[in-house]
Amino acid sequence: MDAKPLNNSNSAIVVGAGPIGALLAITLAKQGWQVTLLEKQALNDNVLPSSYDKRQLALTPQSVDWLTQQTLFPTLHNALTEIHHIHTSSKDCFGSLSMHAQEMGLPALGYTVSQNTLGNYFFRALAHLPNITLISGVTLCALQQNNQSVELILENTNHERLSLSANYLFAADGAHSWVRNALAITAQTRHYDHHLLTAVATLSQPHHHTAVERFTPTGPTAILPMTAPNQVKLVYCYRQQDEQLILSLQAHDLITRINHQLGHQLGKVIQIDDIQHYSLVEIKPERIQQGNIMLVGNAAHTQHPVAGQGLNLGIRDVQAIATWAKTADATLWQPLAISRKKDHQQTMKATHGLVTLFSHPSATVRSIATAGVQLIELCPPLKKRITRMAMGY
Ligand SMILES: Cc1cc2nc3c(=O)[nH]c(=O)nc-3n(C[C@H](O)[C@H](O)[C@H](O)COP(=O)(O)OP(=O)(O)OC[C@H]3O[C@@H](n4cnc5c(N)ncnc54)[C@H](O)[C@@H]3O)c2cc1C
Repeated sequence: MDAKPLNNSNSAIVVGAGPIGALLAITLAKQGWQVTLLEKQALNDNVLPSSYDKRQLALTPQSVDWLTQQTLFPTLHNALTEIHHIHTSSKDCFGSLSMHAQEMGLPALGYTVSQNTLGNYFFRALAHLPNITLISGVTLCALQQNNQSVELILENTNHERLSLSANYLFAADGAHSWVRNALAITAQTRHYDHHLLTAVATLSQPHHHTAVERFTPTGPTAILPMTAPNQVKLVYCYRQQDEQLILSLQAHDLITRINHQLGHQLGKVIQIDDIQHYSLVEIKPERIQQGNIMLVGNAAHTQHPVAGQGLNLGIRDVQAIATWAKTADATLWQPLAISRKKDHQQTMKATHGLVTLFSHPSATVRSIATAGVQLIELCPPLKKRITRMAMGY
């Protein structure tokens, strides 16, 4: 067996080259850490891992400010679409909430970008950092740790066994984390009773940089602006029991259903392309740290994408680790895990509350929730505070 110890004082193994693993590897390497990044999918011919699909992400200004800092991705702004307005409402209920960047004196309330575009930025950066070793096509076999280091046994594409060691291991291996299972960390799993469809939609009128979120009894429906003036990313939820029906619909009938859910805040959807379906699950591990190992990103917090918080929360994991990694003070390692867990719990509670309250089957419950939203609209200081929270500040 090949032994490849990383006996440097600042060394890390990052498992998973999805957006959070890749970003964490880049951030640590830029601070001089020796990083080994492991990805289970074999990445031949510059192909990105499949999690970098065309899903359109809403990024908070807080995430974008950090990502576009001088040493990370200063040109990322070229790939982003600004969100100037956010309109939130509930189907069949009176009242709505509108937020405007101008009211806040800001250029944007948020930004959109596809996960695939983000991946291209991250993988270009990975290729230029000599202290990152990316090994793809790996199968993880065993994990051991003591007070000083973590050792990982893996099999590469040639079926050779390798042993890697480092001072710290970060598990960014997604919702069904191998590392989490290997550490026997139990996780609470909640399956939502609706599925999610995403598509690139063409609208009958320009979006004017508006994002729309509309809650319905079958789950939320949303629109995120894309670069072209009439093009948006559509997010549409439907009941699990309607799956076969939705899959069998002709485009015209699907568009009629979508327009019925969406309302006419931005005119009508007239065309849909690039349709993808996702099942929705929430996964909450009981803890995110064991010895020198920490779970990050979806491995630590998988949530409903309705509030657009998953990646933003993962980026906050990376920010906090980056701050800690400057000194790598061992006494601050557990406090780091505790503060990240608190942020995860708060964010996931808010996201789940949003889904269940506003998509409640009872019109009365939804009406009460919408009345609350209307109160926010009528109270400008509260509205400003909530807008800033939605922006990640
Ligand atoms: C439709 C949709 C829309 C979304 N919209 C938003 C949004 O608007 N805003 C937002 O903030 N978030 C959004 N999210 C959430 C966001 O996409 C996720 O939070 C993000 O992908 C998590 O990144 P990750 O790197 O933690 O995990 P993943 O993307 O799941 O990546 C995990 C990586 O680990 C690899 N891996 C798995 N197992 C192993 C193993 N054993 N060994 C090595 N590698 C392994 C996988 O191949 C993969 O490359 C959305 C999600 C969905 C589904």
